[in-house]
Amino acid sequence: MKSLFRSELGKIILMSFIGLLVGYQWDNIWLGLSTALAIYILSHLYYYRRLDEWLAKGGSAEKPFTDLFWSTIMDQVLRLLSQLRRDKAQLKSDVEYFKESFQALESAVVVVDARGAIDWCNLASANLLGIDITRDKSQLFNNLIRSPEAISYLEARQFDKPLEIVSPLAIDIRLELQATTFRQNYTLIFARNVTEVFKLESMRRDFVANVSHELRTPLTVITGYLETLRDHGEDLTPVWSRAIAQMLEQSHRMDSMVEDLIWLSRLEALPAKDDEIEVIDLKAILASVVSDAQLSAPNKIVDIDIAMDKFIALGTGLAEPLQIMGSYLELRSAFGNLVQNAVKYTAEDGHIQVQCFPRHNKLIVRVVDNGDGIDSLHLPRLTERFYRADSSRTTATGGTGLGLAIVKHILARHDAELDIASVVGEGSQFSCVFPLSRLSTPSEEKL
Ligand code: ADP
Repeated sequence: MKSLFRSELGKIILMSFIGLLVGYQWDNIWLGLSTALAIYILSHLYYYRRLDEWLAKGGSAEKPFTDLFWSTIMDQVLRLLSQLRRDKAQLKSDVEYFKESFQALESAVVVVDARGAIDWCNLASANLLGIDITRDKSQLFNNLIRSPEAISYLEARQFDKPLEIVSPLAIDIRLELQATTFRQNYTLIFARNVTEVFKLESMRRDFVANVSHELRTPLTVITGYLETLRDHGEDLTPVWSRAIAQMLEQSHRMDSMVEDLIWLSRLEALPAKDDEIEVIDLKAILASVVSDAQLSAPNKIVDIDIAMDKFIALGTGLAEPLQIMGSYLELRSAFGNLVQNAVKYTAEDGHIQVQCFPRHNKLIVRVVDNGDGIDSLHLPRLTERFYRADSSRTTATGGTGLGLAIVKHILARHDAELDIASVVGEGSQFSCVFPLSRLSTPSEEKL
């Protein structure tokens, strides 16, 4: 490029020199010089026009130049053009590759634009969602899916968890929807067929529920006979008395386990229904749970602290009595389990407090104890069925290992979560974190 510049400069100097010579002949060196430079400029204008025409034809025709300067520029343009064509072809093949891999998926993939209209979908979308791109492109996704849950899921744009829905094609097909946003307001929706998993899960639930129901009657008979033997067994030897006491203890434990399993199956089987929501006096429900705990452990201090001033300061019309919307039976069971656990896992003079306060748009109902605490190792698994942080201790306390699983299920049915914090040797905090919208202002009607 440097030599090209030099040769072009040489050309200008030569033409100027010739112009000056001719001008000298004409007795007007300026006229000669300007004529020479005008010829130079016109020649470049001519070449520029030819370049323009050549580019307008897409740069594919024969090179139109013999001039070294323009021909070199042409070569560079040609190189760039062919590079661009190669990049475009590569990009096209990459796009095709991804499209083909999406087509090969068994799950449905749908791309929805900012308006909610279908932009693209793969073949599986036809079998799972009844969407065919050739027919349904630009149709509103919500109009085709016709599922109120899916519509609110997509509108809320809270895609951290998947959603299970019934396929719009058949009620016996269960789909798991997972959406994610990309570019600006584009949504990528994955729909996976989870019918088999759903069937297996239902079978497991039914099996547990049926076995638990079937166990109820024989257990009642066994417990009844054991109680009779204990009450009227004056002639029993000390060995038999101890054996019967132990059998009775274990049969009571099995009884609690069966009751908990039946309760858990019920919670899992029935979806939370809006028409079963009651307006519950929070202080009253906590007081009744605390009074039960106090009866079972008179030496332990169990008190309630409701930060009413903090609720009033929120300025949302909240006033005493603080009311929460939900199922009384379920919430009593959840709070009861937490308070009973706190009682079980604290020493004889233990102190348990049930706190209730607002924090960052959430309503927190927290059970705090100064018991043994739990090693952080166990915290993530505590809500699993039958998981115990300390099996020997639990056997002594007669626990079933199902309490926290029940709490977790109940809270999920109330749009809430269980948060556990604990320090070994200092105590534990079990927090039920509800959305603040669960609170009802006194003027609010029962839902
Ligand atoms: P369990 O019937 O055994 O109490 P849960 O599901 O209620 O079953 O609790 C699971 C485990 O969590 C318990 O076995 C116990 O190890 C631990 N745990 C629960 N609450 C507390 C608490 N307040 N303090 C210490 N450990 C606790």
